[in-house]
Amino acid sequence: MGSEKKLIELDDALSRMLASIAPLTQTELIPIQQAHGRVLAREVRSALNVPSFDNSAMDGYALRCMDVSEADIQNKKAFAVSQRIAAGDTGEAVQAGTLVRIFTGAPVPPGADAVIQQEHVTLQEGGLAVLDRLPRFGDNIRRAGEDIEAGAVVIEAGKRLSTVDIGVAASVGQAELEVFRRPKVALFVTGDELTEPGHPLKPGSIYNSNRYVLNDLLHQMGCDVSDLGILQDSLPVVQDALQQVAQEHDLILTSGGVSVGEEDHVKQAVTNLGRIELWKLAVKPGKPLAFGQVNWPDEKGHAWFIGLPGNPVASFVTFLLAVRPFLQKLSGRPVSPRHAVQLQASFSVKTKERREFLRARMNDDGLVELYPNQSSGVLTSMAWAQGLVDIPARTEVHPGDQVSYIRLSELST
Ligand code: AMP
Ligand code: MG
Repeated sequence: MGSEKKLIELDDALSRMLASIAPLTQTELIPIQQAHGRVLAREVRSALNVPSFDNSAMDGYALRCMDVSEADIQNKKAFAVSQRIAAGDTGEAVQAGTLVRIFTGAPVPPGADAVIQQEHVTLQEGGLAVLDRLPRFGDNIRRAGEDIEAGAVVIEAGKRLSTVDIGVAASVGQAELEVFRRPKVALFVTGDELTEPGHPLKPGSIYNSNRYVLNDLLHQMGCDVSDLGILQDSLPVVQDALQQVAQEHDLILTSGGVSVGEEDHVKQAVTNLGRIELWKLAVKPGKPLAFGQVNWPDEKGHAWFIGLPGNPVASFVTFLLAVRPFLQKLSGRPVSPRHAVQLQASFSVKTKERREFLRARMNDDGLVELYPNQSSGVLTSMAWAQGLVDIPARTEVHPGDQVSYIRLSELST
């Protein structure tokens, strides 16, 4: 297997790919309503305490604990209600020996040190109020700064913004956020055998599935995608198309045409327009993956190039293993490690010269099961799978052995 010796280990390839790129630096200021999924470029620091004032956690009565004794409770002492504070109002200092009617979110008036829930208060005629229990210091008061203290960093730079982050930004008064621009990615699929869904299938054709999978994965990664459809298996066609888009994109992503067949023109096109830095990984599926760069027509810059294999499972898996971390770094995010858990195998398998990522899921007994058909053309294996089992090259696995299992959900964004 002389040719297998030239295969590059996945993690070596990945380190080299990541080492070649620098994160995008351009930023934009966007309204928080549009911030979901964007990558924060400048940390958000709170200028204020949240909440910014002590406020009531309940509808009830604010008071000074020192004004109420055990004997008052036993004797059902009636207290005057001297003030009413609703949310949005500002109150005045508590008059000694009185209660203050207060509602959830309203500022606790100066002097008050507890709020008693209205369920523990009975109103008498004339507006006097009787308490059925002794309040304790601090009861039902939400303290200023208990959520966020002024000066605290509430969202770190590099974070991909979630729904809650948008809420946190809003809660500290921020209407806009500074985010990195999205990576611009040109997507091409290659293959004369491809027919678009929605059209009749010609003899010898198959439906184009990679275009839709990759387009969706790129969107999930927060990219600005130019979905450029199918390229014919022809060197001039591929070369022209790649050259045309290089200047406008950070990355050109292709599927198919990177193997060793006579109709595999993508690698040659990239070599003619720039260079291939890596080709062929010691992984299964995904061996033909190629990485390089396509120069701008004026040679003053370049777009990165990643060529994924055409087989649907191979292109999907290599996207998750290699393109995703690449895009994370390009986007200004930390590159997330592949978290694997150790689980027991229910199967036997023996790998050869390449590390294998097998479509798997956990069964009811907590054992990892493999999809019966592991061919890289069987896309339904990916739909069935909930994870990938990562098995090193030249390894034999028997039922009961521990294997590394990577949840697909951890690889998706
Ligand atoms: P290639 O890498 O171009 O040699 O393609 C490998 C296999 O993947 C072939 O069986 C192709 O027909 C299939 N294939 C390539 N591109 C696609 C695509 N976009 N959608 C579905 N299958 C594809
Ligand atoms: Mg092809």
